Amino acid sequence: MAAKIIDGKAISASVKEQVKAEIERDGLDIGLAVVIVGDDPASRVYVNNKKKACELCGIKSYEYALPAETSEEQLLELVDTLNADGKVNGILVQLPLPEHINEKKVIERISPKKDVDAFHETNVGRIMIGNFAFLPCTPAGCMELIHSTGVEVSGKNCVVIGRSNIVGKPMAMLLLHENGTVTVCHSKTKNLSEVCRSADILVAAVGRANFVTADMVKDGAVVIDVGINRLENGKLCGDVKFDEVSEKAGFITPVPGGVGPMTIAMLMRNTVTAWRIQHEE
Ligand code: NAD
Repeated sequence: MAAKIIDGKAISASVKEQVKAEIERDGLDIGLAVVIVGDDPASRVYVNNKKKACELCGIKSYEYALPAETSEEQLLELVDTLNADGKVNGILVQLPLPEHINEKKVIERISPKKDVDAFHETNVGRIMIGNFAFLPCTPAGCMELIHSTGVEVSGKNCVVIGRSNIVGKPMAMLLLHENGTVTVCHSKTKNLSEVCRSADILVAAVGRANFVTADMVKDGAVVIDVGINRLENGKLCGDVKFDEVSEKAGFITPVPGGVGPMTIAMLMRNTVTAWRIQHEE
């Protein structure tokens, strides 16, 4: 039987509506600073989409588009300025940064209270112990999509392919916090297909087009495709071979229109959370 398509576009639209309603209800004046260095076309698209979402939700966005030759010191200075700016509640530095800039150093410079991507070590540590202020946007979006299926995570076999700091590892943590039995696979994993076939919930965050094939998927599984890959013909595709896997899975996210829009919706939610954290004291 064909899988039910999880409509990330519709679910993300409803999250953004909730954020907008909350901002209107409480009369919040919220600002998000988006910093982009250089002219990577994919980063430009992401930044534009984030700005559009801000507009829709009623969040002010302040864009800082810096040239590729910006020095690390200049970028750190900008982060300091934004940390001190009361109008700015969230700071997002679009990755990747040019090679001459140390990404880790920049992320660590962002105030943890304005770290709406949840990449700062303080926020990563808080995710580990389950005492989080912000959830990392992409894994949080994946959790919303999983919840939308009505499938309980508790007690399920969950397999995450990929162990990056921004997707795979925090994804595994969020599933674990909901009592999933979690396996994290990576490039050195043996018997990957067999491990994946044990998954009731399978999350692919590999970055390789059509990597997950039907023989790797259990009948009826929930399949969340985080991958964004550009094919030679210019089309976007995920890590999952959608046509064949959608014949076997119970639920599946499309690419585009699955995880991508959710990531941005979660960023909007985190920006409201940031405002609240900053106004707690
Ligand atoms: P990454 O390159 O940092 O990590 C990829 C992971 O895949 C690594 O941990 C690696 O061990 C694993 N891997 C590579 N080859 C493998 C193999 N043969 N078998 C098993 N595992 C293997 O990538 P990332 O930043 O985690 O992103 C993953 C994908 O998700 C990319 O396509 C990226 O564009 C996409 N992404 C999407 C969103 C979104 O909003 N939808 C957000 C972030 C990343």
